[in-house]
Amino acid sequence: MRRLLPLVLVLLGCNPGELPSLQQAQAESCDPADAYLEGDKTPALARSTLPAGARFTVLPGVTLSSPVATRIHQLDDAFSRRTGKHLIVVSGTRDPGRQARAMIRVIELGGSLTKLYEDREAAAEIQKAYDRARGARKRPEEVVAAVQSTLQAQIQRGVYISAHLRAGAVDIRNTIMTEADRKAFRAAVREVGNISLLEEHRPPHFHLEIERDKPEPPERRPAR
Ligand SMILES: [Zn+2]
Repeated sequence: MRRLLPLVLVLLGCNPGELPSLQQAQAESCDPADAYLEGDKTPALARSTLPAGARFTVLPGVTLSSPVATRIHQLDDAFSRRTGKHLIVVSGTRDPGRQARAMIRVIELGGSLTKLYEDREAAAEIQKAYDRARGARKRPEEVVAAVQSTLQAQIQRGVYISAHLRAGAVDIRNTIMTEADRKAFRAAVREVGNISLLEEHRPPHFHLEIERDKPEPPERRPAR
């Protein structure tokens, strides 16, 4: 896969030499566990799953559903019409299994979930599920299953420890954007509609939530 990557990126219309390492890319997204997804086998999005004519870049390991990719394509068109530039997607939607593996990696490398995640209560619950499974000498895949089912139970009661467990969550790189680009990006989000936008500062990026059908206010302002 590593060998194929430059080819995939060229097909996606970008120069691999200009891309940061995967590690750097992960430090740009919302979820602290992203930095621990090292070795994740999820392939880069194949050209065929992107809408025809799409010019935006999707970093390796990032998954977008086809409807979300279509909306990002529209957004990229609206952005590029204003700036002549194209968007870079640094994070997408993550399923609970992948989230579980990333969080277990955090724990096994000595990281503290309750320090990393804002929702300490949910983080403590994940830690407890892990400890209980390990204490019962479960096999590694059973430990993943235990953490995953805890994440699923949280989601069912509306608790999302990572915003990227929601369908339609997308992070866009903004560190390379000028002030004019950011303004153009906000205008593009309003033009496309049904996308909520949050400007995150730690680490800096635009967090989007692509809404399906219900109309929504186009922009949510950051808390500060
Ligand atoms: Zn995000």
